[in-house]
Amino acid sequence: MHRIFNFSAGPSTLPVEVLQEAQEHLLDYHGLGLSIMEDSHRAKPYMAVHEEAIANIRELLDISDDYSVLFLTGGASGQFAMVPMNLLGAGRVSDYTNSGAWAAKAIKEARIQGGVNVIADCGKEIPTRVPRLDELEYTEGAAYVHITSNETISGAQWPEFPQTSSPLVADMSSDMLSRPFPVSQFGLIYAGAQKNLGPAGVTLVIIRNDLAEVAPDSVPNFYRYRTHMAENSLYNTPPCFPIYVLMLVTRWLKKRGGLAAMAEINARKAAKLYAAIDGSDFYRGTAVPEFRSQMNVTFRLPSEELEAQFVKAATAEGMSGLKGHRSVGGIRASIYNAMPEAGVDALISFMQEFEAKS
Ligand SMILES: *Cc1c(COP(=O)(O)O)cnc(C)c1O
Repeated sequence: MHRIFNFSAGPSTLPVEVLQEAQEHLLDYHGLGLSIMEDSHRAKPYMAVHEEAIANIRELLDISDDYSVLFLTGGASGQFAMVPMNLLGAGRVSDYTNSGAWAAKAIKEARIQGGVNVIADCGKEIPTRVPRLDELEYTEGAAYVHITSNETISGAQWPEFPQTSSPLVADMSSDMLSRPFPVSQFGLIYAGAQKNLGPAGVTLVIIRNDLAEVAPDSVPNFYRYRTHMAENSLYNTPPCFPIYVLMLVTRWLKKRGGLAAMAEINARKAAKLYAAIDGSDFYRGTAVPEFRSQMNVTFRLPSEELEAQFVKAATAEGMSGLKGHRSVGGIRASIYNAMPEAGVDALISFMQEFEAKS
C-alpha cells in the first residue's frame, strides 16, 4: 500500500483505519452480502449506522436534548442560504462577522434574504486574523450572530467564542470536532464533512430545537430545519455512504480519547509547524500569531517562484496538497485530525532541507 501525506484543505485526508474498515466491508457488509451503500436507508443495517453517527457526535460534544443533530446535503454553502431562510424573518436583521473568504460568502448569501449588519470586518487584513471579542458591536435584537470558526483559506481561527445574547451561529466546516467547545453557547452550528469529518456529500447541522420554529411560512419544506428534525434526517434519502464513513470517523475519535485528546494532539502538531516557520527567516506565517489556525497553517516563501518549486519538490517527496488557495497564493498545510503527527514531522524536515538548498 502506498499512502502519501495529503495536506489538502478539502476533501482531505481520512484516517487509514477508517478507510481500511470501509474497504473491508465494502462488498459484503458484515455478512449481509451487499454494500451498506446498496441497502435501503430505512433498513436496519443503515439505521444502526445513522443512529450511531448521531449518538457519537452527541457524546463527543456532550450535546444536550435541547439540540438536534442533523445530516443534510448541500454543503456549508447550502447552509449559507438555509440559515437566513430559516432564522432571518421579514424585517429582521442579522449580525455577521467578516473574517475572510468563507465569512464573506455567508454574508453575500444572507443579504439575499434580509438585513445584515457586518459587526466586525477584518476580512481583507494582511496578516490575516479573525475579529477580537472586544471588537464586536452587536445589534440589539439581532435574529442571530454569525461567525466562521476557522477561515480555511487564510488560516485564521477563533481561539475562543463570543458570548452573545442573540443565538450564535457558526460555520465550523474546517475545525468541527478538532477541539472541545460548549455547544450550549451556540444556537446553530454547521459543517460540510469533507474537511475534518468524513467524505464530501454530508453536511452536519447542530441546531437548538426552538430555532427550528421561527422559519417564515414561505420557506419550502425541504429547506426547513423542522422538516429534517421531524424525520431524523430521513425526510429524503440521506447520503448513506458519507454518513457511514463519518460514523467510522467518530468511532475513531472516541477510540483516540475524544476531543480533549484530539485538541492536545492538534495543538502539538500546529505548534511544531509554526515553530519551524518562526524559527527561520525563509518562511513567513500569514496569520496574526494569536489567531493562527491549528487546522490550516498558511505561510509564504521569499518569492512565488520558490513557492512553486516548494510545492513541486514536496509532491515528489510524497507530500501533496500544499499549494495555497488560488485566491491568496502561498503555501497551506492542512493538518486536520486525520493528519498523523509523522506527516507534520516529515513536512518540517522537508522545509528545513528545502531552505538549506535554496
Ligand atoms: C470548505 C468550506 C466551505 C464550503 O463548503 P462546501 O461544503 O463546499 O459548501 C464553507 N465554509 C468553510 C469554513 C469551508 O472551509
